[in-house]
Amino acid sequence: MRDVNQEATDAPAPITDRDSDPWWEALYAGQLKLPHCLDCGATWFPPTPGCPECGGIHVELIASTGRGHLYSWVVINRALGQNVPRDTPYTIVAVDTEEGARMIGRLFAPSDQPMRAGEPLSAVIRSVRGQTVVGFERAIS
Ligand SMILES: [Zn+2]
Repeated sequence: MRDVNQEATDAPAPITDRDSDPWWEALYAGQLKLPHCLDCGATWFPPTPGCPECGGIHVELIASTGRGHLYSWVVINRALGQNVPRDTPYTIVAVDTEEGARMIGRLFAPSDQPMRAGEPLSAVIRSVRGQTVVGFERAIS
């Protein structure tokens, strides 16, 4: 079996800014957080300074359980450039979290296993060659 942890190492380093710095700092501390609107209750991803639902500016980061369900996925069979992972094939998933955000990330599992929309997935935070990444694993249901 291939080492999927090692396969994620050639992903490009994240570009952070003041809007996403608190999210990255939480991730570096091993916590997955999501932006949440104190005005309307929406939760979303990626972090933005205002709410995409109501335009409110009263936003806080809340702890995520990391649990969610598979919305969709794509298997990448061919690397499309030098700055993307070249360890094809791998799977990119769109996951609807329990908190209501839709996140995109890599599935840390072999890409040849059948998948079904709605199946449970869990977020995982991994440190690979000094770079912290968040991806997903198949949850035990
Ligand atoms: Zn809002």
